[in-house]
Amino acid sequence: MDLLNEKNVMENYFDNNTDFPREVILKEDILKNGIYFTDTALNNTEFQNKAYFLFTFDVDVPDKVKSKSKIIPQKFKIKNGTYDLKPTIIQSRYNSNSIYKIDLTGNKLKLLLNNEIIADVDFVPEHGYYKYKLKDDTNIDEISPAIYWGETLDITAFRICEYWGLSEECKFCDINENYRSWGFLRKNIGTAIEPEKVAEAVSLASRDNEVKRYLITGGSIKNHEKEFNFYIKYIKEV
Ligand code: SF4
Repeated sequence: MDLLNEKNVMENYFDNNTDFPREVILKEDILKNGIYFTDTALNNTEFQNKAYFLFTFDVDVPDKVKSKSKIIPQKFKIKNGTYDLKPTIIQSRYNSNSIYKIDLTGNKLKLLLNNEIIADVDFVPEHGYYKYKLKDDTNIDEISPAIYWGETLDITAFRICEYWGLSEECKFCDINENYRSWGFLRKNIGTAIEPEKVAEAVSLASRDNEVKRYLITGGSIKNHEKEFNFYIKYIKEV
């Protein structure tokens, strides 16, 4: 498929699915392809860094993503533009070869498809509760970073999975690779976060009216009784 045709293909999808929101079609295509951020866009804006808890979701390998001038935003919002899009939030999945790019043009963030501007962009801002620290001086986002534009705390209590290593891991999953590659972002946390720290982070973050949900997740423990006893401690402590 040549570059020119990819925009035509997208517009054909719009034309052939008029009962379906354009925003959904475009969002799915961006998630599937990944997105490229120019250094100009990253270096001249403020945003919430991607948290790299659970999975990376990036298309590129971690070393390539880490070579960027800054950690990429957790999410971005597309709106207006060629297709008069309603505001639509999309997770960042980095791909340096993507047909989709976010760049800074005339001091404004724009989404480009095949180098043609198609929409306005906002990066997700840092959230109010990010200013809090735990009693031991740990930054709160090291325990409970935000997803869904700050509405949900994403707590990965166990940052690795026991299905890895014997080719038993799920095909889409990169949890252990994520920890190996990005674990340095939370060097004092280790693989299993202490339940007391999770409870303290939830308590602090709940002062922020934007926070509506708490997601506690993590890798699997093969012995199901041990797994139950591990995860139930977090619920009880919170
Ligand atoms: S069970 Fe383990 S390998 Fe499968 S998705 Fe969950 S964390 Fe990944």
